[in-house]
Amino acid sequence: MASQITLNDGNTIPQLGFGVFKVDQAETERVVSTALEVGYRHIDTAAVYGNEEGVGAAIAASGIPREEIFVTTKLWNADQGTDSARRALETSLGKLGLDSVDLYLIHWPRPDQDRYVESWQTLAQLRDEGLTRSIGVSNFHEPHLQRLLDETDVVPAVNQIELHPAFAQRPLRAFGTEHGIHTEAWGPLGQGKYDLFSDVPVADAAAAHGVSPAQVVIRWHLQNGIIVFPKSVTPERIAQNFDVFGFVLSDEEIAAIDGLDRGLRVGADPETAVF
Ligand code: NAD
Repeated sequence: MASQITLNDGNTIPQLGFGVFKVDQAETERVVSTALEVGYRHIDTAAVYGNEEGVGAAIAASGIPREEIFVTTKLWNADQGTDSARRALETSLGKLGLDSVDLYLIHWPRPDQDRYVESWQTLAQLRDEGLTRSIGVSNFHEPHLQRLLDETDVVPAVNQIELHPAFAQRPLRAFGTEHGIHTEAWGPLGQGKYDLFSDVPVADAAAAHGVSPAQVVIRWHLQNGIIVFPKSVTPERIAQNFDVFGFVLSDEEIAAIDGLDRGLRVGADPETAVF
C-alpha cells in the first residue's frame, strides 16, 4: 500500500502514483483503468498531454469514490497569466469531468515570458475558490522558487522536477526541504533514455531482492522521501511498478545508487526551455 505524504497545506498525497505523459488519448482510459485496478490512487496528467478526457473517463468508470483518487494536472506555458490561467483550469476540469483537481501545477517557469509570479497568484485564488485543493510548480529552479517566496505569500506544496539516479537534484531537493516544498520526480526511470537498469548498484540490488531494476529505482525514490509516478502502458509493468512494498533497500544499497548521480539531465533545461 502506497504511503501518504502530508503537504505544507495539510492535504495528503499518495507517495506513489501513475504518470500518463505521452499516453495517446485513445489509450489513456484503458491504461488508467488498469492502474486504478492495480491499486494506484494518484494520477499525474497535464493539459498539454492531451489525454485529460481519458483520465476522467477511467475515473468515472472505476466507481471509486472521487475523494479516494488524487488527480494532478498542469497549466501549460501558453496559458500563463491571470485570466488565461483561470480559463485553462476550467477547461481541464471540463475535460476531466471533475469539479476540482487535487493539485494544479505551473508546468514550466518559462522565465523568458516572466508571467509565472502572476500565474502563481491566480493559482492561489483558484485554490481559495476550491477549483484545486493544492497548488504547486514544476521545473522550477531555486531562483524561480525564491521569487515566489519573496513576491507572494503562498509557498508551493510541491516542485515536480526531472529526477532519477543519474540526476538526483540534491541542492534543489534540499532547498525544497528547507522551505516545506515537497519534491516530485518526473522521468523517475530516466525515461528509458540511458541504461539505468544495467548500472551495477541497480542490477545488484535487483538480483539480491529478486525484483526488477525498475522496482529497485522506484524503491530508491520512495526511501528518499520523493513523490514518484512512473509511467508504463504495459499492464504487467503497471502492476510491477506498484508492487514495491515487499522489500526494503539497505542503507548501503541506497548509498550505492546515490553514487550514480552525475548531473545527467535527459529532458529540457527549465531556464532555457521555450516550448
Ligand atoms: P519514466 O521515467 O516514468 O519512464 C517511462 C518509461 O520507462 C516507459 O515508457 C517504459 O519505457 C519504461 N518503463 C516503465 N516501467 C518499466 C518497467 N517496470 N520495466 C522496464 N521499463 C519500464 O518517464 P516519464 O513518463 O517521462 O515520467 C513519469 C511521469 O512524470 C510522466 O508520465 C508524467 O506524468 C510526469 N512528467 C512530468 C514532466 C514535467 O515537465 N512536469 C515531464 C515528463 C514527465
